[in-house]
Amino acid sequence: MKKTVLITGASSGIGKAASRLFHANGWNVIATMRSPEKETELTALADLLVVRLDVQDRDSIDSAIKAGIDRFGRIDLLVNNAGYGQSGIFEATSREKIQQQFDVNVFGVMDVTRAILWHFRANKAGLVINVSSGAGLFTLPTLSIYCASKFALEGFTEALSYELLALGIGVKSVIPHGGVAQTGFQERAGADFAVDPAGLPDYNEFLQRAQRSFGAMIAARMMTSSDVAGVIYEAATDGRDQLRYLVGDDARGFVKARRSMDDQAYVDFMRGQFAG
Ligand code: NAP
Repeated sequence: MKKTVLITGASSGIGKAASRLFHANGWNVIATMRSPEKETELTALADLLVVRLDVQDRDSIDSAIKAGIDRFGRIDLLVNNAGYGQSGIFEATSREKIQQQFDVNVFGVMDVTRAILWHFRANKAGLVINVSSGAGLFTLPTLSIYCASKFALEGFTEALSYELLALGIGVKSVIPHGGVAQTGFQERAGADFAVDPAGLPDYNEFLQRAQRSFGAMIAARMMTSSDVAGVIYEAATDGRDQLRYLVGDDARGFVKARRSMDDQAYVDFMRGQFAG
């Protein structure tokens, strides 16, 4: 019997690549997005349902899940992919922007997950894959709000995996670390960068240094949205109970530093990245 996946944030980037890949491998796909009326490519595919789901609108979550079950009979896999990166100086980031970041990256994931768990419990089976980030393993300046949201997501994912294990429901985290090409992520983060050079000039010198460091990092090899989709597919189908799947070559050594150094040595290493 064909399996069915529901993917959030399928309008672009990783979510769209994952929708294509699962479909190409014979899955039924419920590709959810905020503005389905703009979608033209996925709507042309058989056994692929494009439906509206805004993770900040609980009615849209419930109706997307219902539409998926009505169409395909059951859902086997939820991929919580929708998310974005609020960037900028913390002090220049409004409370509303911070709230919005958590509404999408954390509370949105929780709301979609809670809305589908009754179905997974009834089936005594199901898998949740959360698309996290290297920003959930290590932190970077000018990304404090995004990092806080992905650290929260990592904690939630890990704890939930213990809670649902006995019910036969799996929970996994896919962690792209390093930039992902072919997504709208960088453009959105850049357009929404919180900064106030006139009101908060004390940060200007640091920002110039940080921008140089980030420039060198971005020049390092990027992975593609298809690479990440491939690892989501692997996590969905490998039958293993592995919690975290990292994607990326760790060209900057941040994951290795986090995992191999003692805490203060790691913090000193990271401080060094933005010192010069
Ligand atoms: P993307 O191309 O910008 O895709 C983000 C998706 O999330 C879009 O479909 C967007 O929909 C959707 N979204 C945003 N707010 C939403 C909301 N309130 N409700 C429903 N959908 C919403 O970027 P991406 O790189 O593929 O991002 C996917 C995931 O990968 C995110 O969780 C991100 O944190 C993670 N990630 C990305 C990178 C990277 O470098 N790109 C690295 C590590 C992790 P709209 O089109 O309607 O805005």
